[in-house]
Amino acid sequence: MFILGIETTCDETGMALIEIKENKIRILANELATQFKVHQKYGGVVPILAAREHKKNLPVILKKIEKNFDLKKIDFLSFSVGPGLLPALVSGKEFVINLAQKLNKKIIPVDHLSAHFYSVLIKNKKDWQKIKEIDFPALVLIVSGGHTNLYLFKNFLEKRKLGETLDDAAGETLDKCARYLGLPYPGGPIIEKLAEKAKGFFPLPKPILQKGYNFSFAGLKTAFIQLVDEIRNYKKLDEKTIADLCFSLQKTIFEILIYKLNKAKDNFKIKTIVVSGGVAANQTLKKMIKKYFVQEKIYFPERKLATDNGLNIALAGYLLYQNGTPPLEKIEVYPRSI
Ligand code: AMP
Ligand code: MG
Repeated sequence: MFILGIETTCDETGMALIEIKENKIRILANELATQFKVHQKYGGVVPILAAREHKKNLPVILKKIEKNFDLKKIDFLSFSVGPGLLPALVSGKEFVINLAQKLNKKIIPVDHLSAHFYSVLIKNKKDWQKIKEIDFPALVLIVSGGHTNLYLFKNFLEKRKLGETLDDAAGETLDKCARYLGLPYPGGPIIEKLAEKAKGFFPLPKPILQKGYNFSFAGLKTAFIQLVDEIRNYKKLDEKTIADLCFSLQKTIFEILIYKLNKAKDNFKIKTIVVSGGVAANQTLKKMIKKYFVQEKIYFPERKLATDNGLNIALAGYLLYQNGTPPLEKIEVYPRSI
């Protein structure tokens, strides 16, 4: 079975072609066009520009894939229908519907956050590989630039959202605080690097820590900004202080994530913990989680598969196939997470 997966929820245009045979997968193409440079000067993703870039990139990537593969052989298409930036989603949908009509193929709509989970099931390599099996129930934490969502998965198809951020996402907090320190976007990887040199720790608040499974990072961000202002009032921010600030911020965010994971783990007999999304590329977070949870199986995606890509959308198409393929006119995109 051949599946073409397409990702356009935010600022990455992703397209991947996979072949599946008896629970084994082979990656035939995995293309990504990042728009990072287009948005960088605005300090964040501009939805309308993201849509314009997807429109421009999608036919170019498809042409590249078509050079080595006859698209008529595809069994179906899959694409991420949300959550994401509405203009970006709409441009993706228009392209995919047109292509599906042209090829006379069905479409599997994919939830982008579930697809982040599926990223941990495979490796980014060319040869045939077995799709990993997961012991359910699984606790799935998606930590990215736009989302901090905690899900309970009973199996690949049935999930329940336990909580999400009420304001800023974890990655967004790292990005915004980095910007306040004068560091470039995206802040997450730079904060990770600078934190390695830290010698001291600044205590920071953990809003709504004990209340349910939702997250809130806006208060933490404000406290961080106030702390930076206070320090700037009496001295220049030197390298050592910046390292300590990065370490403190990262540690506080990760402790909040671990607290909520632990609470959910105790409430629902969890066998597996999955952490995915851009922030899951952080090696300190991975080490902290592996050290804290010793009974459960822990899965993080390969660094390259942690951020948005078409490959996890194609794989999701395979896993969700049994849900059926809706008529094209019934396919809707949605900006907010479900
Ligand atoms: P995504 O939204 O999934 O495309 O991922 C982008 C987000 O992940 C941004 O907020 C980045 O700052 C964050 N990110 C990427 N790499 C790292 C890292 N190594 N440590 C922490 N955050 C990261
Ligand atoms: Mg994402």
